[in-house]
Amino acid sequence: MFGLRKTLGSLFKTNQTDEAWFDALEESLILSDVGLPTTQQLLTTLRKAAKSEKVSSAIDLQQLLVQEVAHLLQPLESISNPLYVHDEKTTPEVWLIVGVNGAGKTTTIGKLCRLFQSQGKSVLLAAGDTFRAAARNQLLEWGDRNQVDVITQESGDAAAVAHDAIHAAISRKTDILIIDTAGRLATQDHLMEELKKVKRVIGKALPGAPHQTLLVLDGNTGQNGLSQVKAFHAALGISALIVTKLDGTAKGGVICALAHTFQEEVRPSVLALGKGEGIDDLAPFTATQYASELFN
Ligand code: GDP
Repeated sequence: MFGLRKTLGSLFKTNQTDEAWFDALEESLILSDVGLPTTQQLLTTLRKAAKSEKVSSAIDLQQLLVQEVAHLLQPLESISNPLYVHDEKTTPEVWLIVGVNGAGKTTTIGKLCRLFQSQGKSVLLAAGDTFRAAARNQLLEWGDRNQVDVITQESGDAAAVAHDAIHAAISRKTDILIIDTAGRLATQDHLMEELKKVKRVIGKALPGAPHQTLLVLDGNTGQNGLSQVKAFHAALGISALIVTKLDGTAKGGVICALAHTFQEEVRPSVLALGKGEGIDDLAPFTATQYASELFN
């Protein structure tokens, strides 16, 4: 389970909510990647409530904290989550998956494939990471496991694979096409240019596609994760996020930091959370549940 439980320890069990208590809370929030501005905002609200004496016990403050964080995260929740509501008029519905290497893209694609299939959808995968043979093989393995085809090319770039895959999906009348991409950070400019090209080619092959541009983000990457979201969003216009590796971490606050970062912009929705390496370890994201898991 993710959450701050370990770091908060007995913080919410005490009767003394003095300055030292608030300091300890502040430290825990920062350590969990909630981010400084959000931490300060939350502490101001809690301190005010404690002074007003309407809310005094640690339990009351805990409840208020959960409530405040849920409110903060609400805008990141998808009203009509495209993982569960497929209202695209066109078939195939195309999902372009981006993110840095190791974030959990391929694993998440395996999970998405399983989820869509469980909804009775036909799925096709495309191995758009043409730089690493290992990435292609890994996707082929997930294809095997889910018994779906994977479009690959021995040579050729990601745009060519995406183009091929769209035509294959159209002719097979596949419901959902999921396109994997490379994520080498070492050459970020090059990566972003390549991804832009892939997106352009997809749009030309099927007007309106990709219907979702999904960024997979490792939930343990803290401030660096925020920079990744900003860079991918600026280059590609991210519509959705899945945050991975939220099992067994004392972190998980990065989503609060995200809410703060995207306060005034069109923001991507957080669709789901990766909570393990298994095929079913994907949980829908809801603000209230996330907030309560974070602090309980
Ligand atoms: P990619 O390079 O972005 O395609 O990342 P991979 O899908 O290969 O994942 C990198 C590593 O993270 C692998 O060892 C995965 O098993 C692991 N991983 C992916 N998602 C999760 C998750 O939600 N929880 C945990 N604990 N591990 C994960």
